[in-house]
Amino acid sequence: MYLDYFISSTSTIENIKLNKYDQYYYEQLITSFLSNTNSNIYIANGNLSRVEKIKYIADNKLVKKQLYVCAADIYNNAYETNYKKDTTPNCSECIKCKRTIITLDLLGKLEQYSTLFDFNKYQKYKDSLYVEVLANYEKNHFYKDIYELMIETNPKTPNKYRNKVVIYKIKIKLSQIKVLRKIYSLLKKK
Ligand SMILES: [Zn+2]
Repeated sequence: MYLDYFISSTSTIENIKLNKYDQYYYEQLITSFLSNTNSNIYIANGNLSRVEKIKYIADNKLVKKQLYVCAADIYNNAYETNYKKDTTPNCSECIKCKRTIITLDLLGKLEQYSTLFDFNKYQKYKDSLYVEVLANYEKNHFYKDIYELMIETNPKTPNKYRNKVVIYKIKIKLSQIKVLRKIYSLLKKK
């Protein structure tokens, strides 16, 4: 039993709003309902984004030994993914690991986390992760923070990936058209 339990905020305070689907926006509004007479639950550091939080803790000795952000077990159970924590405590494959690795890399701190993340896995998807961030940062709040860090650390990054981002977006559009065609043909059969 904990007297005070701190949960790292998903979002920052200025983003609070009522939203049916995404805890990102409303977690700070519901936390008091999770507390009881024995334990107080707090959403911590609502003034900092995820990127700012990593920046804040990245040089801490204990964090370098024990940082654990992986959600492989949760995703494997809920969505039947097959993320493996076979080489390091963090699977380095799930989205939470990926966002943390790329942030540490952009901050120039990744080398200090070699026992916690699998760099071989990261090297294999690094370029495609950059493309994913650059193609989606306008509609993905987590990617937006990472994108801003990318620009801060190297403003030329988007140029390097420009063609790949265009191809990525075309592929997404084509897959959406494919799905629409499928739905149309199914409706036509009825
Ligand atoms: Zn993971």
